[in-house]
Amino acid sequence: MSSNRTTGLVVGVLGAGQLGRMMALEGLPLGMQFAFYDTSGSPSAGLGRIFSDPENALEPLDDFTDHVDLVTYEFEHLPLDLAERIAEKRPLHPGVKALKICQNRALEKDTFEKLGIPTAPFRVVESEDELNDAVAALGLPCVLKSISGGYDGKGQIVLRKAADSASAWQELGGRTLLAEAFIPFQRELSIVAVRALDGTTAAYPLMENSHVDGILRYTLAPAPDCSSETFVRAADYAERLLNHLDYVGVLALELFEVDGRLIANEMAPRVHNSGHWTMNGAHTSQFENHLRAISGLPLGDTKAVGVSCMINLIEQEADTAAILTLEDTHLHLYGKTERPGRKVGHINIVADNYSELIKKVKLCLPHVPGHSPFNSSLVKLL
Ligand code: AMP
Repeated sequence: MSSNRTTGLVVGVLGAGQLGRMMALEGLPLGMQFAFYDTSGSPSAGLGRIFSDPENALEPLDDFTDHVDLVTYEFEHLPLDLAERIAEKRPLHPGVKALKICQNRALEKDTFEKLGIPTAPFRVVESEDELNDAVAALGLPCVLKSISGGYDGKGQIVLRKAADSASAWQELGGRTLLAEAFIPFQRELSIVAVRALDGTTAAYPLMENSHVDGILRYTLAPAPDCSSETFVRAADYAERLLNHLDYVGVLALELFEVDGRLIANEMAPRVHNSGHWTMNGAHTSQFENHLRAISGLPLGDTKAVGVSCMINLIEQEADTAAILTLEDTHLHLYGKTERPGRKVGHINIVADNYSELIKKVKLCLPHVPGHSPFNSSLVKLL
């Protein structure tokens, strides 16, 4: 297939949740087709053929790989041998190198340090004695994390006094852990950037994220009160990573902002929840840009159209009819059954400026179950 045609191109997505679904929603207008490989037993992506493999057998994976022209993924905790098996047969973007580093917090933080990207001081910990040594070296409080497999703050404990080490080790120990210094950040930011097959890169504006119980609730984009110098610095960090990893596709970098400094927390080698606002608030969405990148097309404009607030719908959907009456307010539902802690959709609100945005957010929030924004610029603005 010529690299400038996408009609009939079959994109294979490892995973069949909302990220794959939103990719398909953006790829269908470009003539692309989609297929999903699902091990969860409850695929929700729709919009393409599902290769179901709840037993993790290899045959459905091979059938899936044979069926598609190229492969991407919506989650990074994918066994590396499977990724290598796929990459032998089809282009896999982002590649195995990015996956390997993103699956291991120590490798990830080594990479940040090697590339001159500030990150919290850390120690790899394999025993309770090593944890005690790490606490002595890093100081308190510090954060103990599983080295792989954790997400949304799961597998993570904050140690506030030396005596916490024993119980923390009991809870998380028995495997390799990472202890890192606690960063007293003012806010959490992220940047989504993309690298094309020809090495061209682009970045979306910096975003401000607020989490509740480790789960992202709100994103404001562009982040309020962010200097262009801070944005340029964040984009430069993302670009260093993209180039170092020979990366193709969208990458998200999560950062802490502390006294004007940016400290990298972690990265995700995929489209990211904090980038969902781009579906309505940027010239080209993160999903379309990811697909453009992996299929060898030129990247689209990453500039914001006004300012946006993304509100995640956790566990329960919002009042659809009410939301649909609101101006510049866009509902995205994932077709998922409601379950504790599950992301079932999001709302993107777009406005010309922050004062207009806040008015629109105020009209929307009463129709969103369980939402009380706190701990972010949103509160100060509301
Ligand atoms: P993570 O799983 O690394 O994304 O961490 C989940 C959340 O825990 C982050 O979004 C922060 O709110 C918090 N967190 C993680 N690491 C640190 C740290 N070193 N200092 C302070 N807070 C942290």
